[in-house]
Amino acid sequence: MVGADTLFPEIASSDHIISVAVPVPLRQTFDFLVPDDSPTAVRGARVKVPFGTRKLVGVITEVKSSSEFPESKLKKALEILDEISLFDEPLWHTLQWLSRYYLAPIGEVIGTALPSLIRQGGELRPANKKSWVLTDHGRASPLDELNRAPLQLAIIKRFMQSSLLDASDFKETSSGWRQAVNALVEKRWVQEYVSEPALAARTLKVDAREIETDLTLTGQQQDAVSGLFNAIDDKVFSCSLLHGVTGSGKTEVYFAAIDHVLALGKQALLLVPEIGLTPQLIDRIEQRFSAPVVMMHSGLNDTERHLAWWHARQGNAKIIVGTRSAVFSQFSDLGIVIIDEEHDGSFKQTDNVRYQARDVAIYRAKQHNIPIVLGSATPSIETYVNASNGRFKLFRLTERASKVSLPKIELIDLNQQATNDGLSPSMLEAIKMTVQRKKQVMLFLNRRGYAPVLYCKDCKQAAKCHRCDSHLTLHRRANRLRCHHCGYEGVIKTNCGSCQSSEMVDVGEGTQRVEDALALRFPESTVLRIDRDSTRRKGELAELLEQARSGKADILLGTQLITKGHDFPNVGMVGILEADQGLYSTDFRASENLFQQIIQVSGRAGRRDDVGHVFIQTRFPEHSFFDKVLTHDFNGFAEQLINERKAANFPPFGYFALLRCESAHQAKSLQFLRKAKDDMVNYDGVRIMDAIPAPMERRAGKYRAQLLVCSSQRSSLNACLAQWLHFLATDAQAKKFASSVRWTLDIDPLDHY
Ligand code: ADP
Ligand code: ZN
Ligand code: ZN
Repeated sequence: MVGADTLFPEIASSDHIISVAVPVPLRQTFDFLVPDDSPTAVRGARVKVPFGTRKLVGVITEVKSSSEFPESKLKKALEILDEISLFDEPLWHTLQWLSRYYLAPIGEVIGTALPSLIRQGGELRPANKKSWVLTDHGRASPLDELNRAPLQLAIIKRFMQSSLLDASDFKETSSGWRQAVNALVEKRWVQEYVSEPALAARTLKVDAREIETDLTLTGQQQDAVSGLFNAIDDKVFSCSLLHGVTGSGKTEVYFAAIDHVLALGKQALLLVPEIGLTPQLIDRIEQRFSAPVVMMHSGLNDTERHLAWWHARQGNAKIIVGTRSAVFSQFSDLGIVIIDEEHDGSFKQTDNVRYQARDVAIYRAKQHNIPIVLGSATPSIETYVNASNGRFKLFRLTERASKVSLPKIELIDLNQQATNDGLSPSMLEAIKMTVQRKKQVMLFLNRRGYAPVLYCKDCKQAAKCHRCDSHLTLHRRANRLRCHHCGYEGVIKTNCGSCQSSEMVDVGEGTQRVEDALALRFPESTVLRIDRDSTRRKGELAELLEQARSGKADILLGTQLITKGHDFPNVGMVGILEADQGLYSTDFRASENLFQQIIQVSGRAGRRDDVGHVFIQTRFPEHSFFDKVLTHDFNGFAEQLINERKAANFPPFGYFALLRCESAHQAKSLQFLRKAKDDMVNYDGVRIMDAIPAPMERRAGKYRAQLLVCSSQRSSLNACLAQWLHFLATDAQAKKFASSVRWTLDIDPLDHY
């Protein structure tokens, strides 16, 4: 492997002009003259440039001898910050591709790929600033010992969430933090870290534990592993789908592949969903590997992120585990990419640069000539199709590693029995039996708050958000009305806003109401509610999940936060309180998502010893959707969806782009999109739909509209939109209109609202 510094040949002295991508939402680069005292300008290096009245840090995209602008008009760049490129060739090509494919400004794309300290022009090498890490002794000591030192306790709790802390992390803590940290250093719970930029503390293993792999892989796991070993040894690009039912031991297969890559001296990248990066996974990785690991996720502070980036780039870190943006990490020698729960929606970024990390990872693996593995119990239809048509290799794990059968799924017909606080008599009975058997119960309801609607009995009006086309949700714990769309929060009025009547009733149930009902009915049992409201503080989700796992709670109740990949060993029964929303939705992906959710949440039941039970409450037990659910027939379900999508030319058989627009003036968003439609040139095979209001038109006081552009050919869709963007940038009138509204372009959108 060549080092980054040898990748770019010395430039000719006539090349005195540089094109620079600057972090602004403009789809172009800007030319500057190389500053006099900078003998070297290389593509991929950062450069400080004057931009209007500001000074910006950009990245050189080209070094050249002439510009389309007269040289006398070009400004001189202020300073070239790097002597070498910050991007290896595969990453550079990936970013260029990303910018073209998603029609995203190259400056923003490059910005997305760099940690903020680097983006702002900081030193590549992390500063030797004084910081602290938790010692093994500190990690092993019981927290009660700190009961009389609340500040020290608070500090240790922070260390449990963040590997490496420095003064900036304590700014908001009490002023006595320095003393408290010193006391902890004295006790050897915490240790100072001054010298070399450290690998994240979690990998500072004084005594690398002996690695235990006493598992004997099942035949199916073994087949998948040998297939992946071959793919790794081939040293060419390949993409594989590991389609394994919940609990089939996919993680063990990933680990075997990582082992193999590490033995070759290479690095492994493991991408996980946003909430998949649980302490449980981290522990599992650390118990399994003695190689240095870094984590990259949204919870890192700037210093930690910079360190993680640096260690991956230097090759110090061998295993890089991260959420979607980790796909932009730099490596010294990458050997494999693994994406766990590849179907998960969090791999798609939904603001700024709207990329799908799974697709970016595939492109990148191709550039590196290495294998990539996508794993899931419920693959996305896109991936499933690629595996069926042979574009991806397919490995299947059809049985659970523990040999326990998949859970038995039953429907509860809500036409036959009424629910009370969201719970039907059959559901209550099932909960009771499970609790009696000393097994955990897990209940899934994807609606937080107490009640979704506060309704006036007299005038039949519901309390509405004044900024959105939406009801306000009643939150009893906080005693507030909240809007789940814009964050508005207000007091609970005892009188109707329209008619002043005091006959206000709360209708429907959220997790809080069900929690109360459970507490009443099962007073002996501990109920644990896990949703966004109960996990606002950093680290709280991890804490609750750990409580759930350790078996401290008898009944877990939660939103989708509890569905993903967690291995709760003692769950005997799963209840899905409401499954109907996805059945008749206008969103063509709703049933796919519902199926995935049901299978994932069901997968938490009966993972160890005896067969688990799943109960689904529904008003539509006859719906054909449930035939496939009851038999765990993901393939059958997928085939059905594929036929539907093929017939309708929906993804992945047709390609979509969604142009969204919002404005404070009701008519303007639609006007802008109608004009956009008129301005777009009709490429062959491209269909431009009509501009329509968004399903929820008003949100946070803005009126939103959307325009769907479809094509059976990606290239014509891309060309059509690129042409329009060009028109927008060059036509004065169009440009003016565009700057008076807020619009965004989403290629391969996941959400259609
Ligand atoms: P998945 O990721 O497919 O849901 P996991 O990898 O989490 O499944 O495995 C589920 C459980 O089965 C874990 O506790 C794991 O340790 C165990 N397991 C995996 N493979 C084996 C095996 N070959 N033999 C015994 N137990 C296994
Ligand atoms: Zn009223
Ligand atoms: Zn609102």
